[in-house]
Amino acid sequence: MAAKHFAIVGCGTGGLATALFLAREGHRVTVFERFSEPSAVGAGILLQPTGMAVLRELGLLEALEATAARVDTLDGRIADGRRVMDVHYRHLAADAYALGVHRANLLQVLSSAAFGAGVELRCGAEVDSIQQAAGHGSLTLAGGEKAGDFDGIVIANGTQSRLRTQLGIPQTYKPYPWGALWTICPAPEGPLAPALQQRYDGSTVMIGVMPTGRDPVSGQACVSFFWSLKTAEYPVWRKTSFDRWKTQVLSHWPQIEPLMSSIADPEQLLLATYADVRMRHWHEGNTVVIGDAAHGMSPQLGQGANLALVDALVLGDCLARHSDVAAAFAAYSHQRRRHLRFYQFASRWLTPLFQSDSRLAAWTRDCSFPLTNRIPFTRREAIRTVAGLKTGLLLDRPALEVDGRSGLWPAKE
Ligand SMILES: Cc1cc2nc3c(=O)[nH]c(=O)nc-3n(C[C@H](O)[C@H](O)[C@H](O)COP(=O)(O)OP(=O)(O)OC[C@H]3O[C@@H](n4cnc5c(N)ncnc54)[C@H](O)[C@@H]3O)c2cc1C
Repeated sequence: MAAKHFAIVGCGTGGLATALFLAREGHRVTVFERFSEPSAVGAGILLQPTGMAVLRELGLLEALEATAARVDTLDGRIADGRRVMDVHYRHLAADAYALGVHRANLLQVLSSAAFGAGVELRCGAEVDSIQQAAGHGSLTLAGGEKAGDFDGIVIANGTQSRLRTQLGIPQTYKPYPWGALWTICPAPEGPLAPALQQRYDGSTVMIGVMPTGRDPVSGQACVSFFWSLKTAEYPVWRKTSFDRWKTQVLSHWPQIEPLMSSIADPEQLLLATYADVRMRHWHEGNTVVIGDAAHGMSPQLGQGANLALVDALVLGDCLARHSDVAAAFAAYSHQRRRHLRFYQFASRWLTPLFQSDSRLAAWTRDCSFPLTNRIPFTRREAIRTVAGLKTGLLLDRPALEVDGRSGLWPAKE
């Protein structure tokens, strides 16, 4: 495609990765971000082999790995110590693993590459609305300023996107009743297990700890901590004695006492809420929606950032292969369908097993997961699901196969 001018709304994982793919194809790219400056805020993200493959394609994996922590296994246990979640990346390939990364480090690696490639960033530019007309688009910013005229607009502004709702595409937005309190704190002394560890009590209690690599400010090793909480109960949690809550956490998982001692103030914990976003398709004329704005889901399967990265890769590929922007966006929608539908379905069905009031859901998890781990076929399907590779329940194609341009991940598959 001849060089075009694209607007990308949102300077998150999906927006930055897309900006980089497009700039490297020779397009002019302007990213609009509502925050006035990029900050080091961000949760710990489990970057799956699919997301790692996209970063490898961008030539950024090595730089990110220097600040990330290796994760070899997912280790989830119930109150009696029995391991119900027992997923190993080595069951995918002998040298496979995931990465625990600080979101700020991921954004830093992506943004320096994007700006090095000539991407223009407009910070403090909240986009209020988009206008499309005959193959062109423009944006109206909060305050009334108009920006345009663009050959294509990429909406990548996260789950709460109001721009998505301005499109005439049938869609639904359903908030999950449960969210999570999270924080990133200094890693306790001693070696860190290369594992995402979780503790469950039924499906009402879930605690998670994940090595998260290096803190972007201090450079010290850090870990992410998560505590599952109903969003409606957050005001009650704020009023509860903090020490009483810490005692409750430790009653489920006494071994994390050194980590809990670094959480001294409720202000350190942020509430993450999430929602299930469904769209019939993701393109309309010269506008396309990607990332959480297009397919927000619960983080239970650890896929959001990975899917946003694969979106960026596929979008870049479609624009490289079509001479017309609208045709490229339509091809993108078609190509992403199976992969995204599978993960939306899986996250919708799996989330209540970990976050709900249902005893049956927890019982189902505690009985079925260990069984899954014992049977080689289901064990492999489980790790392929976690790795972000699946595009269907039984019959599926490798997720990163882009119209025959296969082999991004993994050659050994
Ligand atoms: C607690 C928690 C844990 C998670 N763990 C994982 C994990 O382990 N693995 C994983 O893969 N994913 C995880 N995720 C999900 C992951 O963080 C998201 O899926 C991913 O960041 C989505 O990227 P995005 O680019 O679509 O959106 P975002 O990263 O949300 O970026 C959107 C950007 O758009 C900007 N913006 C919003 N509105 C406007 C506007 N009107 N104008 C201009 N700019 C705007 C925002 O400021 C933001 O910078 C987790 C999420 C949560 C909440």
